[in-house]
Amino acid sequence: MYSKKSKVILTFDVELWHEGKWQQPFIDYISKNDISFEKSMDKILNLLQQRKASATFFVTSLVVDSYPNYIKKIKDAGHEVSSHGIDHQKLHQANPIQYREKLIEHTKRIKEITGSLPQGFRAPHFSLNKKSSWIIQVLKELDYKYDSSIFPISITNQYGHSKAPRENYYVNENIIEKSSDGLLEIPISTSSLFSIRIPYAGGIYFRILPLFIFKYFLKKESRKTTAPIIYFHPHELESSTPKINRGPILKRIVKYWGTKKSFRKFERLFDDFEFQSIEKNLGL
Ligand SMILES: [Zn+2]
Repeated sequence: MYSKKSKVILTFDVELWHEGKWQQPFIDYISKNDISFEKSMDKILNLLQQRKASATFFVTSLVVDSYPNYIKKIKDAGHEVSSHGIDHQKLHQANPIQYREKLIEHTKRIKEITGSLPQGFRAPHFSLNKKSSWIIQVLKELDYKYDSSIFPISITNQYGHSKAPRENYYVNENIIEKSSDGLLEIPISTSSLFSIRIPYAGGIYFRILPLFIFKYFLKKESRKTTAPIIYFHPHELESSTPKINRGPILKRIVKYWGTKKSFRKFERLFDDFEFQSIEKNLGL
């Protein structure tokens, strides 16, 4: 049936809520009875099934080791399972040789559970940069078909490349230059106002922006030839995610802002957009 809804690529960065480095000193907050991960994933998977949507789930090594049953559930429901790397560590802080070894194991583990190799990779914290560009060769060696780690705008010094292409391109060691022989790069969607790039496409931006503004940007970007790609974290769509009330205030605001109402807000997107995984949208 012909759908009038605009097509959008939906992705989830699936990490446990306490995988952020700043949270490690407060690790005693993790309760054995914490079922917020299961709750968030069940809600997301049910919603996607009801709305006949598919999505790409980038999963960390800790999620694969802790919840192999959910990796299988995601795959069995017709979604794509790809990699969100090892221990949610920033790539430029990792030892490339050790990281490669761990990524080989992680990739194999995903294949054991799902029956197929992960096709895509998203660096934790969008940490693909010139210092961590060694990952591109590793991904090619392991038969990954694409990367989706470039955030083509720089908001803080933490991540982002203000000069990277906004549309899909082939990435090599130069990161921000289009190449003819690199790995397919699918950057996070950005919008623009008066030729200034605007971040909007998920995470804290989705939670802070009023829904009508988020939808305005998403509609605008979905008129382009390639579908915009947006991202969410299961823990930011789940109000029962445990709250840490110590540690850096800014990090806590970014993590918890709007999480009480975010799932309801997220649900409302399905009235206007048709969501697909990366593999379905690109026919991989
Ligand atoms: Zn992440």
